[in-house]
Amino acid sequence: MRQFTAAQAGRRVFAIPTGWTFVQQHLLTPLLDLVFPPACAGCGRVGILLCDPCLATIRPVEFHHQPDLAPLEALGAVGRYEGLLQRAVQALKYEGATALATPLGQQMARRIADAAWEPGVFVPVPLHQHRLATRGYNQAALLARAAASALGWPYRDDLLSRMRATHSQVGLDHQARQENVRDAFALASPESLQDRSIILVDDVYTTGATIRECASVLAAAGAGAVRAFVVGKTGLG
Ligand SMILES: [Zn+2]
Repeated sequence: MRQFTAAQAGRRVFAIPTGWTFVQQHLLTPLLDLVFPPACAGCGRVGILLCDPCLATIRPVEFHHQPDLAPLEALGAVGRYEGLLQRAVQALKYEGATALATPLGQQMARRIADAAWEPGVFVPVPLHQHRLATRGYNQAALLARAAASALGWPYRDDLLSRMRATHSQVGLDHQARQENVRDAFALASPESLQDRSIILVDDVYTTGATIRECASVLAAAGAGAVRAFVVGKTGLG
């Protein structure tokens, strides 16, 4: 089988700018599909972004519940952060393969439905505005929007804001990760979250330092249950 690099798989030659939703859906995407057909992020098969044989290789992870996750009430993931999911997240995050957010968000939605989670408001872990400006999009927001749309549940990206830029968590141990993100997030909207059930969304869960910091802010603002769902969960933490 022909080998595809992560840079080729799951992406087109160039990314469509965000904010072009209508034009993108109805004109650009169909046109680009003809000229640069989508390829599976796992194997490079042309015509689909995540093919069924690759999806079948995902290893599930146990859903976690309190008390080890406090202040999170529950955590779920599409699967282990390896193989297909790792390649897909990296392409989504670093290579402009924003189209992958739709099938990945649909996988999240399917597992949330299978686990019979109560409905909640999907809230992405925010990026700092500098990184947002550099990358052009927040991959967590694209994933959360796709999952919310698949389930027909609400989506809000204006509840949390990232107050300061943090260093990458990659390579940091558990304690360093916690210190790195401490007080990095704040409530962006003054409204009361009384009894709102929230589902935080991020691409990867490693030690959970980032997601738990966000959950603390939401819990302090009076949110009801705060749960989290990610694409991939690593073996760490
Ligand atoms: Zn494939």
